[in-house]
Amino acid sequence: MQSFPSSLLNGYRNFMSGRYVDERERYRSLAEEGQSPTTLVIACSDSRSAPETIFDAGPGELFVIRNVANMVPPHEPDGQFHATSAALEFGVKVLKVRDIVVMGHGRCGGIRAALDTTSAPLSDGDFIGKWMGLLKPATEQIQNNDVMTPAERQTALERISIRNSLNNLRSFPDIQMLEESGNLALHGAWFDISTGELWVMDAKTGDFTRPEV
Ligand SMILES: [Zn+2]
Repeated sequence: MQSFPSSLLNGYRNFMSGRYVDERERYRSLAEEGQSPTTLVIACSDSRSAPETIFDAGPGELFVIRNVANMVPPHEPDGQFHATSAALEFGVKVLKVRDIVVMGHGRCGGIRAALDTTSAPLSDGDFIGKWMGLLKPATEQIQNNDVMTPAERQTALERISIRNSLNNLRSFPDIQMLEESGNLALHGAWFDISTGELWVMDAKTGDFTRPEV
């Protein structure tokens, strides 16, 4: 039998002697009282874009959904297996989060795969290809844009993907209702992994600017 990765065991040892000691009481009360995060973040699975790290969040502070390219599918109550929609349902209906942040990031492999017209599916299931199909109309327009460089196309689609996810969030009746009544706010953000810069989407224009921090 393969042994459990030693890097993880070492990390766990550090956690128990460091952060856990500092936050023992917090963990204990979170266990007894349950979690009540007020922010839900949808981020990419990419190992470089962990919301808890970027927003310096402790246990119980963020309810996080991660998938390839931080995407939200449209509301489709079709009986299929919708992992992202299930987590959204829990965050909105049970935790009653007040803010939802869709956070994309630079050099996203999922976005790169969507733009790459030459690559073959990674497996018979072509799960990534099908998943990135959520962005197909925008992807096709960007792919055919000759005046943009590959890097510009990549950044543009990363940001369009965030707006697309926000639009799809609003296709969920509960989310739309809560937003309209002022009980839930939707936000977009884009993290530049090469510089550490966080860009925040202007809700009105859809443009991204760097906030004062
Ligand atoms: Zn990514």
